[in-house]
Amino acid sequence: MRRSRLQPVHGYCAAVSILGLSVLAGLLVGDGVRLSAVLSWKFVFFAVFVIFGELYPLRVPRGDAESAITTSTTFGFALLLCFGTAPAVIVFALASALGDIVGRRAWWKVVFNVAQYTLALTACGHVLGLAVDLQAGGVEKFTVRNLLMLLVAGGVFFAVNVGVTAVAVAMVQRLPLLTFLRQDLAFHASSTGVLIAISPIVVVVAGHSLVLLPVILLPMVVAYKTASMSLDKEHQAFHDGLTGLPNRTLFYDRAQQAIFAARRNRQASAVLLIDLDRFKEVNDTLGHHIGDLLLKEVGLRLQKVLREVDTVARLGGDEFGLILRNVAGQEEIVGVVDRITSALHQPFIVEDLRLDIEASIGIALYPHHGEDAETLMQRADVAMYAAKATHDGHAIYAANLDHYTPDRLSLVGELREALNRGQLVVHYQPKVTIATRTVEGVEALLRWNHPQRGRINPDEFIPLAEQTGLIKPLTMFVLEQALRQCHTWHQGGHQIGVAVNLSTRVLQDAHLPQDVARLLKTCTVEPQWLNLELTESIIMADPARSMEVLTDLNGMGVRLSIDDFGTGYSSLAYLKRLPVHEIKIDKSFILNMTVDDNDAVIARSTIDLGRNLGLRVVAEGVETTEVWDNLAAMGCDVAQGYYLSPPAPGDAITGWLADFHRPLDPAGTAIRDQAYDSVSAFLD
Ligand code: C2E
Ligand code: CA
Ligand code: CA
Repeated sequence: MRRSRLQPVHGYCAAVSILGLSVLAGLLVGDGVRLSAVLSWKFVFFAVFVIFGELYPLRVPRGDAESAITTSTTFGFALLLCFGTAPAVIVFALASALGDIVGRRAWWKVVFNVAQYTLALTACGHVLGLAVDLQAGGVEKFTVRNLLMLLVAGGVFFAVNVGVTAVAVAMVQRLPLLTFLRQDLAFHASSTGVLIAISPIVVVVAGHSLVLLPVILLPMVVAYKTASMSLDKEHQAFHDGLTGLPNRTLFYDRAQQAIFAARRNRQASAVLLIDLDRFKEVNDTLGHHIGDLLLKEVGLRLQKVLREVDTVARLGGDEFGLILRNVAGQEEIVGVVDRITSALHQPFIVEDLRLDIEASIGIALYPHHGEDAETLMQRADVAMYAAKATHDGHAIYAANLDHYTPDRLSLVGELREALNRGQLVVHYQPKVTIATRTVEGVEALLRWNHPQRGRINPDEFIPLAEQTGLIKPLTMFVLEQALRQCHTWHQGGHQIGVAVNLSTRVLQDAHLPQDVARLLKTCTVEPQWLNLELTESIIMADPARSMEVLTDLNGMGVRLSIDDFGTGYSSLAYLKRLPVHEIKIDKSFILNMTVDDNDAVIARSTIDLGRNLGLRVVAEGVETTEVWDNLAAMGCDVAQGYYLSPPAPGDAITGWLADFHRPLDPAGTAIRDQAYDSVSAFLD
């Protein structure tokens, strides 16, 4: 996130730069550097290695940041020990500036780093000067006292060097200084300590004979090579080969670090997942080469949009991940998302081809949507799929997006096919009038026989269908099947009704009454045999609209019942005005009513309520004789449940109906025993 406004850190950097440059100027003018005094092979040798060290630092990836180890510290100290403060500072400043310019750092960073080294090395030179006369030919003999002073001076160099940067970084990252120091202190102290400790050896060897220097340089070069090779390997393990960005492993680690930091500072962090929308097309039609170049460019554009403390990673394929540290709130994130979107909207020119791509961005926030990296990434993924599905460009995670997982979405595609391929079948479950023990109807329940996943329950796929608009054709399918089956039963002498479940979307469809009327007609079934089941929440989603449609349906002679009664929150006064004929007590109250007194009380009062309102009361989830008997004693009208029969295909229910209507044997064997065999295979 770029901020154009001036911030305290700008003032701080300016102050450090001015101070450092003044000191440098003072050294140049004041002490002067008597070239004749210093110019020697030894000086050139050391200076070259200081510059080399700044130009080729060993970059060390460390958790959240990248640190650099450079051999210039060793040779800078060697210069200091042999030639005094001013030459050492000047060479160091020159090397630092050169390294930064080659590394294409911003001009102010170049200046800041020069200032920082100047201050650190000058302070260090002063401390060392207390013990030895640096001007007079430098330190040649390393007594214990000299070495101790060198350590103290090294400590001062380190303290100033790290301290100056730490304040700036802490200001930018909005972290308390101590937090930042704690993160990096041990690493920097040990590496700087080692590098400084080598400098007296370099000085001693060089003092003896310059020819010997390669002898100590050789192991250093080998160490340097080995280190950079192992760092390369480590880099490969944590970075994407194509874009050079962090890979999924490092991304995950950084997300976790960002969470820790946010927790410490009571701030928010965000994880963003970005998926390119039509990347596969590019790859397939233009080839992998173009695809690769495009991905690289996308990586670069994303990096440009973010602050340095944030992370851009390539997670694989055309998926990128972003971590925003210490975000102030959702507005800040929306700002970033806008910048990403407009950066990606600019056409990409890849080998003279103009490519337009779009992206879907999923966002999850710590602590709002998860407290660990895994949860955040998973939720950002859900949000990303939601963004893709809704073509909204981006989405912030919300619990109601949970069905947008890739798995679920692939199921949606298959559900569309399932209807055409005959994988969807309707099962029926009998509803029996308790007092007369006669079957008054069946409830139609949808089943999906998935070729690979086996039976999928409606609780899993109905919500999907509701979200995607598939619910209308699905409901029409069930309605038609149920009415045809009903007609068949009527012809076979079973005068029973069918109940079909309706969803919110379907109820709000103004065409519903017409569609129902048409199907009743084509299947030649009288309206009073059709029962439509609706839950309270479906009706309350839009009470005015519901009332209209229900009134129409009621006017046609179709019966209506309120499903899952007791689980909703609708007002009784309102329900009373609805043209419903039946309430179904939710099975959660019925299943345990013989052991749970609360459930029994709810069942009893619902039965009383229904009767007082003149409604028929159905208990669903009746599994045992005890429950059946209890319901009978309470005056419940109708029972439905495994005790009578599980839902089963039409033919099986036809067999069940025949068995069920045979007269009971004199011993009064439970109804279940008589008819159960014909459908028991369908028990879920
Ligand atoms: P529901 O309307 O409450 O359906 C009753 C559920 O209870 C059915 O689950 C049924 O198999 C189950 N059940 C029946 N007797 C017993 C019993 O004795 N014990 C227990 N434990 N359970 C019993 P199913 O078939 O899995 O349906 C789940 C839900 O899916 C239904 O709840 C209904 O809301 C929805 N659904 C099913 N088919 C359709 C459909 O065609 N359209 C719509 N919109 N929703 C449907
Ligand atoms: Ca139902
Ligand atoms: Ca129910």
